[in-house]
Amino acid sequence: MEHKHEEILEAVLCASECGKYALEDVRKYCCVDFSDEDVSELERQGLLVRGEGKILFSREGKAHAEKIMRRHRLAEVLLKSILKLKNSEMEKIACEVEHALLPEVEESICTLLGHPEICPDGKPIPKGPCCHAGQRTISNTVVGLDELQPGEKGTITYIKPGSHSNLQQLISLGLNPGTVVTVHRKTPAFCIKYEQTELALDDEIAKNIFVWKVLGEEGRATEARA
Ligand SMILES: [Zn+2]
Ligand SMILES: [Zn+2]
Repeated sequence: MEHKHEEILEAVLCASECGKYALEDVRKYCCVDFSDEDVSELERQGLLVRGEGKILFSREGKAHAEKIMRRHRLAEVLLKSILKLKNSEMEKIACEVEHALLPEVEESICTLLGHPEICPDGKPIPKGPCCHAGQRTISNTVVGLDELQPGEKGTITYIKPGSHSNLQQLISLGLNPGTVVTVHRKTPAFCIKYEQTELALDDEIAKNIFVWKVLGEEGRATEARA
């Protein structure tokens, strides 16, 4: 979904928290400009319903808006409490971060922060699955590539330099931070797959490639089919 449309849904939710539903109210709460056509587009997608001068959510639209709001307010808590940003900077950055947070990262941040229920200005943060489960530990941090099991995926975050002479070679093979790799098998040789490539790696090298483990049904389902 376009960022602008996410911002509109967020603004509709913000306005409705204050008991306001008119288009002008939504505009006041929205950090981007939008046209009537944008609202109509969201109506066509079945997320918003317009009637009697009010803009209301469909059930699906509300669920969607709560997810965006959750990421936005979690980002605010993170920026304020851990990164100690000033309020004036926080709002703008939170608005950027909310569009970029992957679900697995969002859960880890929520758990790290202790499942906060309100944001720095006292507004409620919609709960996520991690909050309902009362998760205490982050299951999804960065691990060595060698810790993944066959079929598991990870996004490369960091390759430890100096641990081997062929770091440049790895990078030239496309093993850059951001690349998603799947462990193909571990015996007889450690073998990974990424993009169109299959590559055998020395165990020592696998240990020095750090990945953010990609969780979720989707990842597993794709693997099962592969
Ligand atoms: Zn926003
Ligand atoms: Zn949580």
